[in-house]
Amino acid sequence: MPLPPSAALAPPQRSPASPRQASSALRVGIAGAGLLGRLVAWALARQGHHVSVFDPAPQALPAHDGHGAAGFTAAGMLSPLAELETAEPEVAHRGWQSIAHWQAIVTELGARLSRPPHFAQSGSLMVAHGPDLGAARRVLQRLEQVDAAFASAHRPQLLTPPGLQQLEPELHGSGGPLHAWWLPGEAHIDTVAALQALHDDAEGVRWHWAQPVQDVAPGQIWLGNPEHAQPLCFDLVCDLRGTGARPAVPVRGVRGEVVWLHAPGLHLQRPVRLLHPRHRVYIVPRPGERVLVGASEIESEDRSPMSLRSAVELMAAAHSILPALAEARILRLDTNLRPALPDHRPQVHHEKGLLRINGLYRHGWLLAPALVDDALRALGLGALPTDNRQPPHASGIVPDIDISQAA
Ligand SMILES: Cc1cc2nc3c(=O)[nH]c(=O)nc-3n(C[C@H](O)[C@H](O)[C@H](O)COP(=O)(O)OP(=O)(O)OC[C@H]3O[C@@H](n4cnc5c(N)ncnc54)[C@H](O)[C@@H]3O)c2cc1C
Repeated sequence: MPLPPSAALAPPQRSPASPRQASSALRVGIAGAGLLGRLVAWALARQGHHVSVFDPAPQALPAHDGHGAAGFTAAGMLSPLAELETAEPEVAHRGWQSIAHWQAIVTELGARLSRPPHFAQSGSLMVAHGPDLGAARRVLQRLEQVDAAFASAHRPQLLTPPGLQQLEPELHGSGGPLHAWWLPGEAHIDTVAALQALHDDAEGVRWHWAQPVQDVAPGQIWLGNPEHAQPLCFDLVCDLRGTGARPAVPVRGVRGEVVWLHAPGLHLQRPVRLLHPRHRVYIVPRPGERVLVGASEIESEDRSPMSLRSAVELMAAAHSILPALAEARILRLDTNLRPALPDHRPQVHHEKGLLRINGLYRHGWLLAPALVDDALRALGLGALPTDNRQPPHASGIVPDIDISQAA
């Protein structure tokens, strides 16, 4: 049942915690309660604006049925450098900015919520089996070429066997020692917990579940057919519907699949990527002795459950570098669609009364805070908190590096 306009426009039931005066508070309507929707809602509520969010999902928690926000399925790797294998330098630049934002956002969430989402800037690893060194070197050369501007600070560092042992003692190649490179400064975040925390901390926001938005225009949101229904009116409308923004945005979905495992006794501290000629797999630790193994990338909008082929490939590849996974229990096989534009670049558009962000593709968590911060500043709506005190090598760990060989 569509909401009457007045229901969506009623002011929230809290006194704004921000310095913004009630008279200058805007009425903001947000289409989409995924990663971008929750981040923007949280940021604007923090500034004392009156925010209403609309989403087809039945509730704030994920159903893991392939139909909710891609943000819930994401591994949450914040890998500006590793992503350069397929992305452009701008992604890395924005990524480093975003890590500083996530650090500050999680700190703020932690000050108010009893369980802040897990975020760690402890670097990441790239590993390769012995025979795959050539393929791995090609990836590393690509990173170095693209990342030339940052090379001295962020370049992958070849680890000695004791160096790898020091960082992740449970990593072993099934057929012999692994080649390993350390990418300092990279981070990871628990995506489900972060989306839940942004929702819980966005005080005063009016969440309208089971309410798909049919269309948007500057200052207007339609919940019903625009030819027959009246729009809801706002000072600012944010179209953050991801793959649901068609036909307003030429976005398509790119299928991804991940496996959730419970691995009691596993002590993995940081994301690990396997550089393999055919199977690209990563393993990301989660609190509670869980790990997430991902992710396939399939040019399809199929939202059906995971295929046997993907499940076998992902788990076999993960087990080939982390034998301790043998007795892990499979908790969930999850699928979703990454919102991608034709050029695979994110798009931010704003005009009076309308903000639209889409196309975050495989880098949503890596890019969202930097893009949202930019957009808020451009609209004169404040900024996201950031923590620039930490250098990229924030973890302070100095593992044993092999200086005898080039990466
Ligand atoms: C398997 C997988 C792994 C990934 N791993 C990573 C990673 O490690 N690091 C990283 O940075 N990124 C990763 N991503 C990418 C990241 O998840 C996405 O880029 C990001 O979620 C996009 O954010 P969004 O808010 O645009 O879309 P979403 O998070 O998909 O949110 C869109 C929201 O809009 C809602 N919606 C849809 N239609 C309508 C409508 N008609 N009206 C109102 N609301 C609507 C949806 O229900 C949803 O809640 C991964 C993605 C996948 C699928």
